[in-house]
Amino acid sequence: MTKVALVSGGSRGIGSAVVQRLAQDGFDVSFCYRSDSVAADVLGKEVTALGVRALTARADVTDVDAVDEWLARTKEELGPIDVVVTSAGITRDKPLALMETEDWGQVLRTNLDGVFNVCRPVVFDMMKRRTGTLVTLSSVSGVYGNPTQTNYSASKSGVIGFTKALAKEVGRFGIRANAVAPGMIDTDMLAELAAPARKKLLDAIPLRRFGRADEVADLVSFLVSDRAAYITGSVVEVTGGLVV
Ligand code: NDP
Repeated sequence: MTKVALVSGGSRGIGSAVVQRLAQDGFDVSFCYRSDSVAADVLGKEVTALGVRALTARADVTDVDAVDEWLARTKEELGPIDVVVTSAGITRDKPLALMETEDWGQVLRTNLDGVFNVCRPVVFDMMKRRTGTLVTLSSVSGVYGNPTQTNYSASKSGVIGFTKALAKEVGRFGIRANAVAPGMIDTDMLAELAAPARKKLLDAIPLRRFGRADEVADLVSFLVSDRAAYITGSVVEVTGGLVV
C-alpha cells in the first residue's frame, strides 16, 4: 500500500520541494497552505503527474478547526498518515525594542502552535499503528539565535524542544521525530532580506552560496526513510557551513 505523507506549508519554498521529493519517493502527498492557491494547484498537478495521489488544502496552521478538517479529509481520501513534515513558517523581523506584540504573537502562533496543531492529532493514530515519522522545520536561528529574530528564534527553539520531547515520548511505539535546521535557503522568505544583509550573509557561508530548497528536501527524504531508522531526536543542520 502506498504510504501517505502530510506536509504543512507545501505551496512554496522548502515545503514545496519536500512535497515534490516525497512524491518522487512514491508517497501520496497531502499538503496545506495559507493563501497561495495558484502555486498549490500547480504543485498538486505536478505531483499527480508523477503517478501518486495529491490532496491540497487551504488550511491556516493557526486555525485548529481548519487543520482538523484537512487531516480528516486526508485520512478519508488517502488513508492513514505515515509521515508528517511541518514546514509552514513565517518571519516578522525587528529588534526587540521595536517589536509589536502582534509580530511576536503571529510568529509564535504560526511556527510553534502550528506544529502542535498539526502533529497532535496525527501522533495518536501513529501510536495506535505503531509506526510513523515526523520531521519539523526548525532553523539555525533556533539553535544559535539571530539578532532581530527574538520571536522567530524563540519559535524555532521551541520546535526543537517539542521534537526532542516527542522523540522520547513515542520512540517505544516505533515512531521517530527529528528536526531539520536550515541555514540560508533561497526562498521567498530569504528574498525579504535587504541586499546588504544578503551580501553579509553570503560572505559568512563557507560554500559561498545560499542553499536550495531541494537540498533541504533531500535531507527530509532521507530522515523519513528507513535509511534513517536509527535516527530520532536529532537536530540536523543544513547550512553550507554557516555556523561551524
Ligand atoms: P516560504 O516563505 O518560501 O514559504 C512558506 C510556506 O508556508 C508557504 O507555503 C506558505 O503558504 C506557508 N504558510 C505560512 N504561514 C502559514 C500558515 N499560517 N498556515 C499554513 N501555511 C502557511 O518559506 P520557506 O520555504 O523559506 O520556509 C519553510 C520553513 O523552513 C519555515 O518553517 C522556515 O521558518 C524554515 N526555514 C527557512 C529558512 C530559509 O532560509 N528559507 C531557513 C531556516 C528555516 P502560502 O504560500 O499560502 O503563503
